[in-house]
Amino acid sequence: MKCEDARERMLEARRGADVPELAAHLETCEACRLENEADAALDVALGKLPRADTPASLRRDIETRIRPRRRSRASMLVAIALIAVIVAIVAWRRPAAASDPMITEAVNDHLRVLYADKPVEIASGGIHQVKPWFAGRLDFAPVMPFAGDDDFPLEGGSVAYFLDRKAAAFVFKRRLHTITVFVFRAEGLPWRGLSSEASSRGFNTILFRSGDLGYALVSDVDQNDLHMLATRIGYAARPR
Ligand SMILES: [Zn+2]
Repeated sequence: MKCEDARERMLEARRGADVPELAAHLETCEACRLENEADAALDVALGKLPRADTPASLRRDIETRIRPRRRSRASMLVAIALIAVIVAIVAWRRPAAASDPMITEAVNDHLRVLYADKPVEIASGGIHQVKPWFAGRLDFAPVMPFAGDDDFPLEGGSVAYFLDRKAAAFVFKRRLHTITVFVFRAEGLPWRGLSSEASSRGFNTILFRSGDLGYALVSDVDQNDLHMLATRIGYAARPR
């Protein structure tokens, strides 16, 4: 197994999939082993974030420190330490709100996209390159009706996980902000109604279903901007 393939399958393995080739690779490759350990630590740290608004100043601090594309082990450790600080401060400030596992997952997955070594696995040459790239990497065909425009340029895509299943992550920009749109099979997930809009840990989220697919939009842009993008993707289409 090549390092490239190893990195692609690490998240899968950490979610419980049996990937014997990966275990063999990690025995012999220190770089991948360190990467996997750092990612596992980040998973744990993200899982501990309480479901309350993260102070905006700290969030910006995290983002600016670990935005660089090349993530070193040191920057990962700084990120994990910062997340631990946020956990402590937020837990001290207020009790955790009632949890919605869908929203928690959406925000965690968005953070994974932001903190990833390569946030976008395929750089966009437009939707016609992004969509076929997913073929063979997912067990469903992601439907993305919006190709991006000047207001919301499409940056690219990557494979992600949403709870127990694979998801397509489409990454859009809104000025300097990143918006991740996860597309996944909707069946068997703990939906609360047909759609929901919520704010969690300083991020805005919109979740909705369309046919067999579920969509989760997450970003630190304001709710109106997120709403504009969601509408372009097919959310709450108004009767004509
Ligand atoms: Zn390797």
